[in-house]
Amino acid sequence: MSLADDLYRETILDHYHHPRNSGTIEHPTVRTEGVNPLCGDEITLYMTVDNDAISDIKLDAHGCSINMASGSMMSEAVKGQSLEHAQEVVRTFKEMMLGPSPDVFLPEELEDLEALQGVRKYPVRIKCALLPWNTLLEAIEKARAGSKIP
Ligand code: ZN
Repeated sequence: MSLADDLYRETILDHYHHPRNSGTIEHPTVRTEGVNPLCGDEITLYMTVDNDAISDIKLDAHGCSINMASGSMMSEAVKGQSLEHAQEVVRTFKEMMLGPSPDVFLPEELEDLEALQGVRKYPVRIKCALLPWNTLLEAIEKARAGSKIP
């Protein structure tokens, strides 16, 4: 175990034990659900959208440490951001997890996400890490579709 691995593990465990933005929103703009049957991870995502920006996001999640930590980091990364920027963050994260090289550029506010890079070594767990992000993408699409209705 290198020092970096230890730091990464600490970051993941911190988010797992103290998930950020955990809970529900009573009247969200959109609500989406995600399941990863392979592992038993389950997520319900609540999002409030104001002026094309994510003003609030909450996750009601039950799953493994990778899934919970990934969701917690995701919520921190996109809360307060525009839908467009959030989509860009999802793209960056997916590139890091699925692209040819994990060495993608992460701006300072996304540095925690680097802790999940190591999951690339365990293909089965990549689904755990991606579940919150795919659930977010669905929420963004739903919010966009909804906003077209006058
Ligand atoms: Zn899992």
